[in-house]
Amino acid sequence: MPNLIRSLTIVVIVFLTANSTAFCEQIVVYSARKEHLIRPLFETYTRKTGVKVKYITGKAPVLFQRIKAEGKNTPADMLITVDAGNLWHAAREGVLQPVRSSILEKNIPAHLRDSENRWFGLSVRARTVVYSTVRVRPDELSTYENLANPRWKGRLLLRTSKKVYNQSLVAMLIFEHGEVKTEKIVRGWAKNLAAAPFSNDTKVMQAILAGQGDVGIVNTYYYGRLLKKDPSISLALFWPNQDSKGVHVNVSGAGVTTYAKHKVRAIKLLEWLSSEQAQSLFADSNMEYPANERVQPNPIVASWGKFKQNPINLSKAGAYQAAAIRLMDRAGYK
Ligand code: FE
Repeated sequence: MPNLIRSLTIVVIVFLTANSTAFCEQIVVYSARKEHLIRPLFETYTRKTGVKVKYITGKAPVLFQRIKAEGKNTPADMLITVDAGNLWHAAREGVLQPVRSSILEKNIPAHLRDSENRWFGLSVRARTVVYSTVRVRPDELSTYENLANPRWKGRLLLRTSKKVYNQSLVAMLIFEHGEVKTEKIVRGWAKNLAAAPFSNDTKVMQAILAGQGDVGIVNTYYYGRLLKKDPSISLALFWPNQDSKGVHVNVSGAGVTTYAKHKVRAIKLLEWLSSEQAQSLFADSNMEYPANERVQPNPIVASWGKFKQNPINLSKAGAYQAAAIRLMDRAGYK
């Protein structure tokens, strides 16, 4: 008899647990992507699946430190952040766990995800050359390396080397050329600067428009944002290195946390984020390129033209990040 009671009690508990999760299945995401970019996605996901996505947003290093400090008690099931350098760092510090998923492997090209499956790129941003259509002809441009040529003296504008985007760009150059050659290139950039480095990409483009310089390096979506405000701006994008490695791209991406309480749900959400339905939403909201190559970019983004991407795995951006920071400092790029 006591056995029967025990069995019945277990059945009741299992039933109650199953029901309560069915009514409020949820998942917790820490996101370095801004709320207005992720909210529409998560709302769509909830409508589709009934799973509630709770999220907090913040700066990438802050969220990363928080997950680390929370350790096994972290409520975070997933971390979404920008830049492969940040994702690589999070993986190396042990806050992300490997995920085996044939869906993710099919949807996300190999160079845009961690070789150990701890993070996956979800949107692609190209860090490319922008130029004044008034003072520069596109046939004068060719490569990132060529911006070190003295012909650009007093004409180049860059964002600060403190920004992870530039650290990733230089890290990829180090992987390709080695430190000696890369230092020469970066030194050349620093010598060609028309003004002290700016705090963001938009300021770089505004300075070109104001005639402070003629050419710069920016992420494509910042150009898209300016263009949205004023389609007649005299700026254009140029795709460098098309005869060599290709344009430096980076990602925003995500991974499942090591101590995720809802691992299976987190993987499901990640898979959905890589799907055709979610990819347009994810990329279009910030005028980026979908990571899933079966999905077309939005028409404005597509109008900037097709280009060859650097196919080297983005984990190199993380692996050479520290070397890149030291190198830029030595080369006088502030
Ligand atoms: Fe950005």
